[in-house]
Amino acid sequence: MTEAWGPDDDEPRPHHGPVKVRVPAKINLHLGVGPLRPDGYHELNTVYHAISLFDELTARRGDTLTLTMEGEGAGELELDESNLIIRAARALAARGRVPAYARLHLRKSIPLAGGLAGGSADAAATLIACDMLWGLGMSRDELAEVGAELGSDVPFLLHGGTALGTGHGEAVSPILARPTTWHWVVAIADGGLSTPAVYRELDRLRAASPPEPLGGPDELMAAMRQRDPKVLGAALGNDLQPAALALRPQLADVLHAGQEAGAIAGLVSGSGPTCVFLAADANHAQRVAAGLTEAGVCRAAVTARGPQPGARVI
Ligand code: ATP
Repeated sequence: MTEAWGPDDDEPRPHHGPVKVRVPAKINLHLGVGPLRPDGYHELNTVYHAISLFDELTARRGDTLTLTMEGEGAGELELDESNLIIRAARALAARGRVPAYARLHLRKSIPLAGGLAGGSADAAATLIACDMLWGLGMSRDELAEVGAELGSDVPFLLHGGTALGTGHGEAVSPILARPTTWHWVVAIADGGLSTPAVYRELDRLRAASPPEPLGGPDELMAAMRQRDPKVLGAALGNDLQPAALALRPQLADVLHAGQEAGAIAGLVSGSGPTCVFLAADANHAQRVAAGLTEAGVCRAAVTARGPQPGARVI
């Protein structure tokens, strides 16, 4: 007699936990922003780059859904249904038709509202962690579909590396380039900037001048292929920078201090107020970070490397 049904070893099964996931912050090496569309979004053309500034999310089995946290933004960030981690867990449970039961804990290093997509990073980490905890076995593409509903940067943060983002950032395609490590200094500001407010300021600034065509990332991509930090530095660009500077004029001092400290190039990260600086190598990055710290223009200056993989179980 043959055995009718044995356990299928390929079948994903619930995990006993804990599942720990590490997720990077993103910067935009190029951020081209098109005009405001009737649906309220701006058409984007961006080159995302994941750097070694990480949040860590741990998921344990539970009989309700709870969230605790430590680190950046603790005591400030709401841990209720508005939190992107809770929203990601609920969206995944609905998609997988399982109860949204988990005890989640966040160790946060990515500053809040910093233009580094920390909230989207946490949502991506939650999707990876809960998919494993609940034994759903979803593909990265399926998780990206759930993630895109939560935030435009979530699909990239599942993916990581360096990638082209189009649509409103949610359509991601990897950039195939020979592996090169780039060295960055991240100048963390006191307080955040609201992303919608920065886009509104950009629209206001643009109302005074004729609309510009949406800039493509060709120059940036060609520069990356040359693997020369000076060439890459000259190609970095962010259409949101004038708006971030208008709302937070002190950022000009940060950019100036980075230049004085010897950085190859500097720019506002996404919607700011974090500024990022390109360095030639790890030692140079340390010197630039020390110069920025000494200038007293930011809350902290830390070194980071990119590209990094997206949200991963560790
Ligand atoms: P982006 O560049 O993607 O617009 P950002 O880096 O400027 O984002 P985030 O830290 O991602 O800013 O978050 C912006 C806002 O999202 C926060 O001020 C907070 O109100 C809300 N939020 C919800 N959940 C989270 C989370 N887990 N981490 C951070 N922010 C969250």
